[in-house]
Amino acid sequence: MAQVSEGPGLYQLAEEHEELRAAVRALAEKEIAPYAAEVDEQERYPREALDALVKAGFHAVHIPEAYGGQGADAVAACIVIEEVARVDASASLIPAVNKLGTQPMLLAASEELKKQVMPEIAAGASASYGLSEREAGSDTASMRTRAQRDGDTWVLNGTKCWITNAGESTWYTVMAVTDPDAPKKSQGISAFAVHKDDPGFSVGPKEKKLGIKGSPTREIYFENCTIPADRIIGEPGTGLKTALKTLEHTRPTIGAQALGIAQGALDASIAYVKERKQFGQSIADFQGVQFMLADMGMKIETARHMVYASAAASERGDARASFMASAAKTYASDIAMEVTTDAVQLFGGAGYTRDFPVERMMRDAKITQIYEGTNQIQRMVMARQLLKG
Ligand SMILES: Cc1cc2nc3c(=O)[nH]c(=O)nc-3n(C[C@H](O)[C@H](O)[C@H](O)COP(=O)(O)OP(=O)(O)OC[C@H]3O[C@@H](n4cnc5c(N)ncnc54)[C@H](O)[C@@H]3O)c2cc1C
Repeated sequence: MAQVSEGPGLYQLAEEHEELRAAVRALAEKEIAPYAAEVDEQERYPREALDALVKAGFHAVHIPEAYGGQGADAVAACIVIEEVARVDASASLIPAVNKLGTQPMLLAASEELKKQVMPEIAAGASASYGLSEREAGSDTASMRTRAQRDGDTWVLNGTKCWITNAGESTWYTVMAVTDPDAPKKSQGISAFAVHKDDPGFSVGPKEKKLGIKGSPTREIYFENCTIPADRIIGEPGTGLKTALKTLEHTRPTIGAQALGIAQGALDASIAYVKERKQFGQSIADFQGVQFMLADMGMKIETARHMVYASAAASERGDARASFMASAAKTYASDIAMEVTTDAVQLFGGAGYTRDFPVERMMRDAKITQIYEGTNQIQRMVMARQLLKG
């Protein structure tokens, strides 16, 4: 699998990356795109996409070879997510959330825990990430879910909300308060690996959403949920640090998802404006339309550079990785919203119907400005880094 270090540098991807893109694009167009409208309409899990991604080994390319995975680098993981999102944003959450759910373990779990979880994910099981709570969204440190040590076990109680792919995943990384008296709230939080069959674990009904309707979002419940003591990820009290470090690695993947949605909307727009005739000519001949296409393409190209550069920075552990991850996620998601809105405009009335994919892309784009930290929170992260000097 592609590795950043093998590439000729920032401004040209490695040959393996381009080969990977071609392979994922072919698979996405053949096996995922045909079901995207139906998945959205019926608000159902993109089972065909899951099967195709697992069969091709594209569902979690970031899992290291040592655990039976592909060992692909962060840029490669972004390319997979981008190419799937180009045809179906819901399906792109399969590789994206597999990375989000496992990254805390890759960063901080014991070797034994990694050996327990990673091969399962590499073989096709899914992982989710449980940080948010109803009253602790942007303010993550004010979470209430508790984990208490009891002999050889940890016992969890509480509710996490907005959990992507909950109910489909086998493993859940869950952050919970282990020391309510810690001097700083953030130092009293620990991370745990919870299995779907652990006693006391359950999932709630699906949220009814504006977009990414094929990806279930649910609450997850812990009622005296009892897990073995060695399922803690890292040392007690390090959970929030690990959860936030994880986002440095995964915000580029949300940027990649946004980028893919925007590219899909531009591609659909280009095809449509060449076909559609008004005033006796193709609407692609009008300069007003051409300028819109040019702006859309320019924004997408800028976002693509930022996404790949931020992914490579996270891979290298670059000191600017946190700033770049927030910048890439924010920029790519903001332009995805703009580009998809312009795509609907270019389709005219047809764009406002479900007969064409651009209205779905516009609805799907919106979430990329909200999750993994809203774009306001990203701007706070960026400003903090800048002011730190
Ligand atoms: C579909 C979906 C999937 C999700 N998947 C997951 C998941 O898998 N795992 C998980 O843990 N979470 C997940 N989330 C949660 C998501 O990360 C949160 O919704 C997000 O972080 C915002 O939190 P909130 O909804 O509580 O909004 P709030 O924090 O209540 O924010 C409301 C508004 O206030 C603004 N705001 C808040 N604080 C500030 C501030 N200090 N300065 C300026 N503005 C501020 C926000 O930007 C926003 O505009 C998901 C959410 C959705 C909708």
